[in-house]
Amino acid sequence: MTPKISRFLAEQQPATPCLVVDLDVVESNYRALHDALPAGKIYYAIKANPAPSILKRLVALGSSFDAASLEEIRMCLKAGATPDRISYGNTLKKVGAIREARDMGIDLFVLDSMEELEKIAENAPGARVFCRLAVENEGADWPLSRKFGTTIAHARDLMIRARDLGLHPYGLSFHVGSQQTGIAAYQHAIATAARLYHELRAEGLDLQMINLGGGFPTHYREDIPSVQEFGAAIQAALREYFPDGQPEVLLEPGRYMVGQAGVVSSEVILVSRRGGAETDPRWVYLDIGRFGGLAETEGEAIRYTFRTSRDDTDNSRSPCVVAGPSCDGVDILYEKNRIPLPNSLKSGDRIEILATGAYVSTYCSVGFNGFPPLTEHYI
Ligand SMILES: *Cc1c(COP(=O)(O)O)cnc(C)c1O
Repeated sequence: MTPKISRFLAEQQPATPCLVVDLDVVESNYRALHDALPAGKIYYAIKANPAPSILKRLVALGSSFDAASLEEIRMCLKAGATPDRISYGNTLKKVGAIREARDMGIDLFVLDSMEELEKIAENAPGARVFCRLAVENEGADWPLSRKFGTTIAHARDLMIRARDLGLHPYGLSFHVGSQQTGIAAYQHAIATAARLYHELRAEGLDLQMINLGGGFPTHYREDIPSVQEFGAAIQAALREYFPDGQPEVLLEPGRYMVGQAGVVSSEVILVSRRGGAETDPRWVYLDIGRFGGLAETEGEAIRYTFRTSRDDTDNSRSPCVVAGPSCDGVDILYEKNRIPLPNSLKSGDRIEILATGAYVSTYCSVGFNGFPPLTEHYI
């Protein structure tokens, strides 16, 4: 948590639950990735947190954007991004959305199937397209590989067909899985994409770009490699697999860019041992849970860090099950990975959940059990 967020929480005492995001952290994350991989063009994956103040800050820094829908494209344009800085990066697009995006000046579309290719050829004639490859997502806490991406063999056919349909087969992309903590995943994926890239260029196709997707991790509980380590390894892989000059390289960080910038402030509703005995597990119920934005606790995949208002005065700790406020049985955040919390914790205490800037505000349900959406503060 940054001093700016601490000060804001102490001075403003905002109603809980709320998300507080320090925009300076977003800026320093952008700069750190840019410095670690100067050859990469950053397309912020706006689904991680589409707050206008984040988009505006990134526009000012020179970022481009990966949008997944017409609405996300509009948000980028509204924040000041020009259409040439926006990629329509969802392999699932309605025909009307392709046409409208094209009318708005978008000229870069992803695909991973023949039908999507034909939709783009018909509704955005002449556009630049890139094909998403399915790659290994090992090492990622939040994998994406089952739903998207195609095989090398089919990608080859798709790119050749794209040329025949009058599109510009522009490049290849992949996503190594979100919260990817293994550097090797990028190296393997670059090697795979490079082989096809060279093969297609040898066939006369004018491929120019490799899109490395997102995946760069945020620091939660476990240690992660630094962005410098990712940058150095990726640069080495690019040199190795593109010895005769590098293609244009796109990066689509989402989580990395905003995760560390946000803190959720919440309140303890109840601390209970429901069996009544001291040996029964201690349950801590918060005013935010799975439906209030902490959806990535599904399967305890993303493991957030907790700070309480008693941490400095009470050194005793015992492991707690932590759950949300709704009347839904799946609204349990951590039961396998219990959270050590002070023994004196009780209802009314504040709890801060760290590194919650990504994939929280937009995962929040609207009005489930009558709880209002998460309040957001961008400072
Ligand atoms: C979600 C998404 C990203 C961002 O992934 P992170 O793991 O948050 O960096 C990047 N590219 C595409 C196509 C995505 O769908």
